[in-house]
Amino acid sequence: MSEKIKEYPGHRIKTADLRAGLVPLIRYKPEAKFAFSAGAAMSRFLEELKNGRILASVCKKCGRIMVPPRTFCEICFKPVDDYTYVKDTGKINTYSVSFIAADASRVKEPTIVAVIELDGASPGMGILHKIGEIDWKEVKFGMRVKAVWKPPEQREGAITDIKYFKPLKEGEE
Ligand SMILES: [Zn+2]
Repeated sequence: MSEKIKEYPGHRIKTADLRAGLVPLIRYKPEAKFAFSAGAAMSRFLEELKNGRILASVCKKCGRIMVPPRTFCEICFKPVDDYTYVKDTGKINTYSVSFIAADASRVKEPTIVAVIELDGASPGMGILHKIGEIDWKEVKFGMRVKAVWKPPEQREGAITDIKYFKPLKEGEE
């Protein structure tokens, strides 16, 4: 039969102990330098953003058009090496409104982040991006949106080459 421990040996470290130097403390800044490879499909996707085009991959077996593109179809278990372009318009699949900045401070103007299903891609395929030029209270599921691109000379092959997606008005393409 096991006996419950009622009292643990030693004592708790208090903040005052740390400040008084009673506890060994090591401070260091890690020198973390990494190079990141985006992979074959994602590299092409990012490169094409510079040209103002959104690249998708096509699975010849199931016909799915996937964006962001990938080199493997997880439904067919087959490598994918066919590519196509999809439009820079689409609809909001889901979204979130954030009143907290990256440094956890509160902000008055919230960031609206959405999953956007792009026109030309298979249903449910979309990219995550910001929504702009609209009051957050007006954002709706299924709302039609279009990419707002940076000027070509400012693009660098990053998802931020698209500044945000803005709502499309009725009849606008
Ligand atoms: Zn497939």
